[in-house]
Amino acid sequence: MNQKPKTKKPKKLSLRPQKLSQFLGQEKIKAKIKVFIQAAQKRQEALEHVLFYGPPGLGKTTLAHVISAEMGVSIHITSGPAIERSGDLASILTNLEQADILFIDEIHRLNKTVEETLYPALEDFALDLILGKGPSAKTMRLELAPFTVIGATTRIGLISSPMRDRFGAIHRLSLYSPKELESILARSAKVLNIPIDKKSIQILAKRSRGTPRIANRLLKRVRDYAQVHGQGKVTQTIIKKALDMLEVDKAGLDKTDRKLLTTIITNHRGGPVGITTLATSLNEDVGTLEDVIEPYLIQTGFLQHTSRGREVTRKAYKHLGKRLPSKQPTKQEKLL
Ligand code: ADP
Repeated sequence: MNQKPKTKKPKKLSLRPQKLSQFLGQEKIKAKIKVFIQAAQKRQEALEHVLFYGPPGLGKTTLAHVISAEMGVSIHITSGPAIERSGDLASILTNLEQADILFIDEIHRLNKTVEETLYPALEDFALDLILGKGPSAKTMRLELAPFTVIGATTRIGLISSPMRDRFGAIHRLSLYSPKELESILARSAKVLNIPIDKKSIQILAKRSRGTPRIANRLLKRVRDYAQVHGQGKVTQTIIKKALDMLEVDKAGLDKTDRKLLTTIITNHRGGPVGITTLATSLNEDVGTLEDVIEPYLIQTGFLQHTSRGREVTRKAYKHLGKRLPSKQPTKQEKLL
């Protein structure tokens, strides 16, 4: 008799911390959030609007979830480009209950009309709706339950100042130190049940571009590699091979990072080069360069900003095995 194969439902393991105590690193931000939460709870009020900014994968969305769990309120998730018309915003806002959280990812991508509809909602918990068209059009004010907007953006420079002013707290998330990433990786390995030793965790942490999302991604890819090539055991040799395959080098630089540095070296004699010229050379947009790629290269000392543009450092030449350009003789030296 043909027996139907038993299918096991795959277990869904979330690496996303649920509580503030599980959220590792960003200590200063956590300390401030703790105070705001306790104060709001004591007053039995909604938390003030919060804006998080910083490169992708540093925990902005996670913090929004953590805040909702700590406050014991519901969280509603949306994003800037998803709210196309004021009517969309109105239907989201009228569905919020007292002290609920509305998380707006990529808040810099809200269109102007929606943004202007949001202002009175943020400030007075009211919506001004226009009914009808032409001279007979009327405005109607709709009262809303007090709520909290948590906005997230990688591009703080694109947030208008009236918008920025309406947030009670603005937090910049910074890249994580290797030590912090080690704790995050150790926690993730435990959640995913991956046997891994301390030294291996240290190697992965150093190669994660200061970013928890990348750390978790590398950990999962290394696990895959170990399952196929090493009977499931994550060893330092397996990590090295897996990272080579993923083209992540010893300093944690990926293909895009190396391309940026190499382009400045080969096309612009090591810099300085203006960001717009560099973006054109790389076929990337300026925003992605500034907010996603550069922060790690600057923090690790491969790239520097000067008044005349971006310049690679000696460390970058050395790391990429490139020869430093011979110094051009100055006019005075030529005359000697
Ligand atoms: P962002 O919204 O800034 O792009 P996310 O909040 O989506 O980043 O974080 C990406 C992933 O990294 C999350 O799924 C979470 O597992 C992990 N993560 C981020 N920050 C932390 C942290 N501080 N501690 C533990 N895990 C984290």
